[in-house]
Amino acid sequence: MTTTRDYYEILSVERTADGDEIKRAYRRLAMKYHPDRNPDDPDAEAKFKEAAEAYEVLSDPEKRRQYDRFGHSAFRGAGSAHHDFSRMNVDDIFSMFNDIFGGGGGFGGGGRRVSRGYDLETEVQIDLVEVLHGCSRDVEFTRLDVCETCAGTGAKPGTKPETCGTCGGHGKVQQAGLGGMFRMVTACPSCRGVGTVVKEKCPKCHGKGRQPRKRKLTVKIPAGIHDGQAVRVQGEGEPPAREQSPTGEGVRGDLHVVVRVKKHDLFEREGEHLLMEMPISFTQAALGAEVEVPTLEGRHTLSIPRSTQYGAIFRIQGEGLPDLRTGRRGDLVLVTKIETPKKLTKKQEQLLREFAETEDHSVLPESHGFWKKIKDALR
Ligand SMILES: [Zn+2]
Ligand SMILES: [Zn+2]
Repeated sequence: MTTTRDYYEILSVERTADGDEIKRAYRRLAMKYHPDRNPDDPDAEAKFKEAAEAYEVLSDPEKRRQYDRFGHSAFRGAGSAHHDFSRMNVDDIFSMFNDIFGGGGGFGGGGRRVSRGYDLETEVQIDLVEVLHGCSRDVEFTRLDVCETCAGTGAKPGTKPETCGTCGGHGKVQQAGLGGMFRMVTACPSCRGVGTVVKEKCPKCHGKGRQPRKRKLTVKIPAGIHDGQAVRVQGEGEPPAREQSPTGEGVRGDLHVVVRVKKHDLFEREGEHLLMEMPISFTQAALGAEVEVPTLEGRHTLSIPRSTQYGAIFRIQGEGLPDLRTGRRGDLVLVTKIETPKKLTKKQEQLLREFAETEDHSVLPESHGFWKKIKDALR
């Protein structure tokens, strides 16, 4: 293990985060700090490794349990079956990306599968009014595109990549593992699995065949979307990796735009319903009243009947959020909260004292029951 930082902190997730949240958090960091996307940036590389280490532990229920109990010391010292993540080669990382991103394909075997590039992910924040109506957002992200100067080959214009001498163009080599006990087929270290080597490198991409490029898109976000859901923009991810298809021929991955819904000061979302606490005065509660309540779009007048209790629930139908599929709107659900004045005038106090003298506790449902319960308990 290399990092001493808290794994949850590294991934910016709660200690209670579920597997999906951890995966999502890791994917975001891995995409951001991937060495290919941040060439010659040791800081990004360190962050990439750190995130990978945190993900490896937290994505494995048993390792996570150990980490929760013992912290980093769970993986130190002898007897730990932990493998050093920082030594992962590019191929390992790519195959992991395939698992995680559901992309890939065309890696060894599989015959004439169409090469597919990696999916990318980006995030936008919207508020509840935008959830109500739907909205558009401009997103900007960086993706690796085929280098235009060398058309993805990595070779200086006018030159051609040559067949790799180490692997004879196969892109894979056999290596003896564990003292010759078994053999492993791995990506060729000389050509990194491409099968060709570039003698004179393209000056634009330094032989990588891919270049990080900024891309800006307008994305439509449908009404009713929930926090954490993603809008998939087909074909806006990366072209197939150079190992699969140097010229980028094949299918681009997708862009996943993860939507984060900002918390609202007044309304709490519960599925398609909106919940709100509604403060009313004790006289309004006792005598009944017409009150104006805010909705997402304006105001609504609500009649409160007399003798309304604390915690009483009122529903305003159709003032919630639309269902993502049907567009049918949920309700605005109001929960009363009865307030007592912080200050009374002399006159008010006098009136209240007169009221108190005639107050009948048997008509107070809660306190009546409360005292009865205590008396029963003491019996
Ligand atoms: Zn190039
Ligand atoms: Zn090779």
